[in-house]
Amino acid sequence: MRRDVQARNRFKLHIADILDVQAMTKLLVDTQPHEFYNLAAQSSVGQSFARPLETLKVDAIGVLSILELVRTINPKIRVFQASSSEIFGRAHESPQNENTHPYPCSPYAIAKLFSLDAVRVYRESYALHACCGILYNHESPRRSGMFVTQKIVQAAVRIRHGLQDVLRLGNLSAARDWGHAKDVADCIWRILQADNPADFVVATGESHTVREFVQLAFSNVGIKIEFQGTGLAEVGIDVSTRKTHIKVDPSLYRPMEPSNTFGDSGKARSLLGWQPEYDFRQLVREMVLTCELQFQNTRIF
Ligand code: GDP
Repeated sequence: MRRDVQARNRFKLHIADILDVQAMTKLLVDTQPHEFYNLAAQSSVGQSFARPLETLKVDAIGVLSILELVRTINPKIRVFQASSSEIFGRAHESPQNENTHPYPCSPYAIAKLFSLDAVRVYRESYALHACCGILYNHESPRRSGMFVTQKIVQAAVRIRHGLQDVLRLGNLSAARDWGHAKDVADCIWRILQADNPADFVVATGESHTVREFVQLAFSNVGIKIEFQGTGLAEVGIDVSTRKTHIKVDPSLYRPMEPSNTFGDSGKARSLLGWQPEYDFRQLVREMVLTCELQFQNTRIF
């Protein structure tokens, strides 16, 4: 706890909209950073179908704006840009690596592909030390309930305490390469410390379905879930009470889903010495235990 407070005291928060050129110019001039990590984004793939223009503005034009500012104000600043595994969408190979041909499946993915190309163009045209991480899903207890992992975790804890009966989900067969945000943050830092700027896939290399996530999260609160039926009629049942806790809601399906995306981060592992510390089971367990603790402390989340 003391270390947390000490670390927090070393940070100074400045607030600026990355699309506000004047504010961002002032920020760069005032703070004179050596490194710039851009993680700002409209970060929900699902929401990007509902808000495509806003997504493209922030996630694509916002990145171009930052690159232009760095180029004109101080081209020595090292830039990290968060791109996304979503660029691969329905790529023709699995696992994907830095050379896999992209096939975006959402407005969010289009914007993240733009950011990858923009960073490369600025690196090659202006010799900026600019790099992208092609980041696969990264979760932690801080994840918002808008994302499926935290939605499942919160529901598992609520159901365990009798505050909720049913969790409604979209596509249970959707699969993701789910890593821990701490491991991804470590890799992001390593990317900018390397002598040669380059783009890196940041992934665990394992793919798990939403269905598997449900079973593991619920088992961490002592409920064994068995799935029965198929398609929209599929349900998840508590093996001991025979109560139905999981139902499928077609309104939560996306217009298009990526298929079989999991990453090969061999380049990051060999060139940056990166090695994730968490595996899938540890990630889910930490999310559930933290949520349970929050529930014990506040009775709300
Ligand atoms: P994303 O990978 O950034 O889109 O992260 P999400 O956590 O939003 O979604 C991960 C996967 O879970 C996607 O393939 C969704 O279609 C699937 N999914 C299934 N049910 C749900 C749900 O209720 N909410 C969300 N957000 N995703 C769901």
